[in-house]
Amino acid sequence: MELPRGMKDFETEELSGIELVRERFVQTARLFAFQLMEPSPIESLSTLEAKSGPAIRKEIYHFRDKGDRDVALRFDFTVGLARYVSSRQSLRLPAKLGSFGGVFRYDEPQKGRYRFFHQWNVEIFGRPGIESEAEIIEFASRLYGSLGLDGVSIHISHRRLAESFIRNSYPHAGQGMQGEVFADSLRLVDKAAKKSLGDLLKEYGHLPGEFVRGLLDFASIRGTPEEVEARIDTGTLDSWDYLVELWDSLQNRSVKNILIDFGVVRGLDYYSGTVFEAFDEKSKFGALAGGGRYDSLMGAFGRPEMGAAGMAGGVERTLLAMGERAADGRGAAPDVFVLYANGQMQRHAARLASQLRARGVPVGIDLAGRQLKKQIESASGARLVIIVGQRELAEGKVVLRNMADGTESQVGIDGLLDDPSGLL
Ligand code: AMP
Repeated sequence: MELPRGMKDFETEELSGIELVRERFVQTARLFAFQLMEPSPIESLSTLEAKSGPAIRKEIYHFRDKGDRDVALRFDFTVGLARYVSSRQSLRLPAKLGSFGGVFRYDEPQKGRYRFFHQWNVEIFGRPGIESEAEIIEFASRLYGSLGLDGVSIHISHRRLAESFIRNSYPHAGQGMQGEVFADSLRLVDKAAKKSLGDLLKEYGHLPGEFVRGLLDFASIRGTPEEVEARIDTGTLDSWDYLVELWDSLQNRSVKNILIDFGVVRGLDYYSGTVFEAFDEKSKFGALAGGGRYDSLMGAFGRPEMGAAGMAGGVERTLLAMGERAADGRGAAPDVFVLYANGQMQRHAARLASQLRARGVPVGIDLAGRQLKKQIESASGARLVIIVGQRELAEGKVVLRNMADGTESQVGIDGLLDDPSGLL
């Protein structure tokens, strides 16, 4: 009866952490006027291949359904939302959409990397520009702030910066360089911070050593616009001015936890312009979120004019970064129990428990008809217990015991139901 590799059950503590992130996500989405929706969990395989071609098959769950259709489980929300928006001719643009839920990936399982996990996601469709990108980055900054993650910084860059640097610095290749060497060079920038120099020189041995070192040096450039300009002649790089404008827009919005980072290119995915990734200073499990501008994906869905930008964050990784703070008690047992002095009192206790729950008071009750002593033992972690006994009940009362100090008092049932706030 073992689970398939990479799958797990979500136990109470983790699930309540996920609910906490969902709640803050929904609140923040409302503040920023994102409309929530959920794209289908199953797509046609061909739709998901619009992202990066058939190579994506290695990374996703796909199968043939009983009607012989090639289908796949969603691996993010971006593709589903982009498909949805591109098929809606009448949608008012710009459209700001958000989603929260589970996604599937055929990743190699390890801590912080699973085959089913949760993501939050926001997207802006319809001619996004600097202000849309700034809005998405500001959203992420506020979301992490609302979760108490003050050590998160959002690293921003632009794909064309790295692309122009690669073209300018590859010997003899000049402006026209494309193809495998170009793709490998982008991959190298992506991996620069994740692997050692020795490993990278070996892995990219087919590229000139000086070029590899130059790229790694480029990928290590980070800081404020002034700090970056002190390290490299930005006049030779495409889109530097765009990135500085985005930086200024974020300053204008008082988003302080940002950093220009030339090492961020977001792999070979569908991104076409600005790219960003969120990191927690103390977390060892990679990026918390990533995103950027991806006009080319909209092109693949037949709407090249539309343009889109968005960001997706991993929920389980956020919980790992939050550590203890993720446990806000919502998964805990109720701290009020209704007990019955004997079997005859059980149905009276059950009625009282039901009336209290109807008034919004979370209460526990023993369902097995056990003796009072056993019920008290089970409720030992509670703050208050209410004991329903024959004598008190005849007078319309119950016993209220404070479990911290053992003190008891008799209270009227009607009064308790009229104003149960003392139980909360
Ligand atoms: P991506 O859609 O690949 O840009 O991923 C966005 C975010 O989802 C990442 O920054 C991670 O926080 C999270 N993530 C991606 N893959 C996994 C995985 N296999 N397990 C857990 N979280 C993941």
